[in-house]
Amino acid sequence: MTQMTRALMTAIGATLDLGCDAIPSPGPGEVLIRVAVCGVCHSDVHIVDGDWGAPPMMPLIPGHEVVGEVIGLGAGVTAPAIGTTVGVAWNGGACGHCRACLEGEETICAQSEGTGYSRPGGYADHIVARAAFVVVLPRDIDAARFAPVLCAGVTTYRGLKRAALKPGAHVAIIGCGGLGQMAVQYCRAMGFRPIAVDLDPGKLELATRLGAVATVQADETDVPQKLRDIAGEAGLRAAVVVAPAPSAFTQAIAAISPGGAVIFIALPAKTRDYLPISISDMANHEKRLIGSNVGTRVDLLEAVELALTAGILADIETLPLQNANEALDRLRQGRVPGRLVLTMA
Ligand SMILES: [Zn+2]
Ligand SMILES: [Zn+2]
Repeated sequence: MTQMTRALMTAIGATLDLGCDAIPSPGPGEVLIRVAVCGVCHSDVHIVDGDWGAPPMMPLIPGHEVVGEVIGLGAGVTAPAIGTTVGVAWNGGACGHCRACLEGEETICAQSEGTGYSRPGGYADHIVARAAFVVVLPRDIDAARFAPVLCAGVTTYRGLKRAALKPGAHVAIIGCGGLGQMAVQYCRAMGFRPIAVDLDPGKLELATRLGAVATVQADETDVPQKLRDIAGEAGLRAAVVVAPAPSAFTQAIAAISPGGAVIFIALPAKTRDYLPISISDMANHEKRLIGSNVGTRVDLLEAVELALTAGILADIETLPLQNANEALDRLRQGRVPGRLVLTMA
């Protein structure tokens, strides 16, 4: 077999082209992976629709929640061995020698590479990835339910980690879609008390099943006060914002206690990318705003270990690769209760 099936972005906003290409050869330091599944992330919609401008690579195979098996090694690669089950996440490469990389902050390396953005992604039955950037997974993993850990999982994990919270902390999860359901589970696994906020009662019900200690309807009046009431005397120590509406960020900043943190994860459309923030509220109450951009390799390893030991899995629906365009459409319309995952034939 020399051909692979892939879904290819050929122009901004265009329907992905479903067709075949030659299976790529792994270059020095790279591995060839036979893809089992690839999760569909909202970032894929942003990339395909050109919300972030033209991607650095075009034509482009999107997808950055990849689980598969190593079937080929490029020059110089000794690990992972052929036959190893691995995950490929957004963080597809970094320079390794700049100040950010040396300090373990490769997510902000100026030369960082994004899988399915500046490197070919996983909407394909084969992918080439940098060997040093894949994560080894157990062979018997439930690939489809685990795939979202590789983006939604690590992103929320890194945000919570950076907030440096104490055990028992109340944390609001604002938005309970694919990222939010991961955030609820990571909160529980890390010893925090997640409070779920969403407009959709179905998503709140799912959040409760996954471990939310309380829920708040996002259209209730004075959501910040409701959150403070639930958190009680210890206060709301953090809010993870995974809903892209600017009002969600405003509510989060208002709701957290002094010293609390708002974790910025959701990415609004460019036209709604700004927030009015009270400078005195920030200064007087020592509130913290924390950005979280997916995760480093160490974050990914920790997020995977926590998922394996705490049993964190996503609520998913699978679709064959041939339905990649339908999957993106459903995300555009917000008609996805959990996470969509593409399966390869
Ligand atoms: Zn993603
Ligand atoms: Zn670097």
